[in-house]
Amino acid sequence: MGDAKIASEDFTDLQNLKREKTLHRSFIRVVFAVCLLMASVGAKAQSATPPQSAPVPQPVTPPPSLIHEELPATPNSPDDTSAANPSNNPEIVVTAVGDVMLGTTFPNEGGENLPPNDGADLLKEVTPRLKLGDVVFGNLEGPMLDGGESAKCRHRVTNCFAFRVPTRYGRYLKEAGFKVMGLANNHAMDFGAEGRASSRAVLDAQGIAHSGEIGDIARLNVKGKQVELIAFATYPGSNNLLDLDVALRAIAAARAESDIVIVSFHGGAEGSTHQHVAEGDEMFLGEDRGDLRRFAHAAIDAGAQLVIGHGPHVVRGMEVYRNRLIAYSLGNFATYGPFNLNGENGMAFILEAHLALDGRFLGGRVHPIRQEKPGGPKLDPGMAVIPVVRALTKADFKDDGVTIGLRGELWPPFAKVPGCSEWPELVRQALGSATCEIFPLPFSI
Ligand SMILES: [Zn+2]
Repeated sequence: MGDAKIASEDFTDLQNLKREKTLHRSFIRVVFAVCLLMASVGAKAQSATPPQSAPVPQPVTPPPSLIHEELPATPNSPDDTSAANPSNNPEIVVTAVGDVMLGTTFPNEGGENLPPNDGADLLKEVTPRLKLGDVVFGNLEGPMLDGGESAKCRHRVTNCFAFRVPTRYGRYLKEAGFKVMGLANNHAMDFGAEGRASSRAVLDAQGIAHSGEIGDIARLNVKGKQVELIAFATYPGSNNLLDLDVALRAIAAARAESDIVIVSFHGGAEGSTHQHVAEGDEMFLGEDRGDLRRFAHAAIDAGAQLVIGHGPHVVRGMEVYRNRLIAYSLGNFATYGPFNLNGENGMAFILEAHLALDGRFLGGRVHPIRQEKPGGPKLDPGMAVIPVVRALTKADFKDDGVTIGLRGELWPPFAKVPGCSEWPELVRQALGSATCEIFPLPFSI
């Protein structure tokens, strides 16, 4: 009995030991499983949304899994040859901004309209965002020259807006990452042919491509692909979007000799009362500023794969036409001195557009920018421009509008974006549930 009791106690101890070991293993398994779950939730959260810890939008490539799965069928695409699984394909990233005028020596030659530190710091804060692009584009809203004479303002200096950017500022464009500048706009001729030639020379000296004057087409080699950019405006002497047949022939010719064609236009009526893209021609100050919907669509039909607009000095909406992105106005990006920067005139964004090698719009991001008097672009932690551009997009383009996420992520129309209610709890906690109310998604899931 004693032995039996001992044996029984031993047996019980053995059983307890086994149970403890089993419990210990189970505990380790549970911990392991929890770790795995956390990791998977974390990865999911990262793939579905940008980093959440900082209020400033981060330069994150949108998740290819989300982008590519939801691309609509493309029976109408002009030249789609993409592989069945485009997420494995390389892509070209274009970053683009609207108006760039870094400071002017006209009419005040004393430097009153030049930035502090002679402009050296003006673009520093936004440079990392610009440099996300393989192609980095801006509209040079004012000639770069020293001296010269403005025929435009010879007889009326007051209320005459002519800009003259010092040539030494050319290096700031280079340092900020610009690869190509548009020279087709209403200020390109502020100092006549001399100013236009000087702008070209400044950019050439910096190794920055340019397009603006008739026949002036920017050519870049990006990842072994030929990229051409044509900048259009509504003025004689420039590549002219009002001259539609000629414009489309130029685009088709560029398409025939290159892999990617980007079209820029400077058009549309100006100011905060002209943020919607009109149907038909837009008139402003007695000038025809273009039928922008018609031009942008025709440009894509002719072979353009991305259309970038500017000119209204405020942002406008974005649509996708035949799988190609059209951004109708990027706003005032870096406009120092005599510019209205009140309210929506001070809001802009850096467009980050990811294109497949056949030009198809894969996704991207809006990087919100804010300017205050006297000017100079700052990243906007409040992201004020995002709900504005989302509302404009929805109003003007409805089902063809780009899908714009909470933090400015861009997807093609109808991309399935996770709704707040479906978000993993950790993401919800990190973002705060109020975010969904502040930035409602453009559709319900
Ligand atoms: Zn302009």
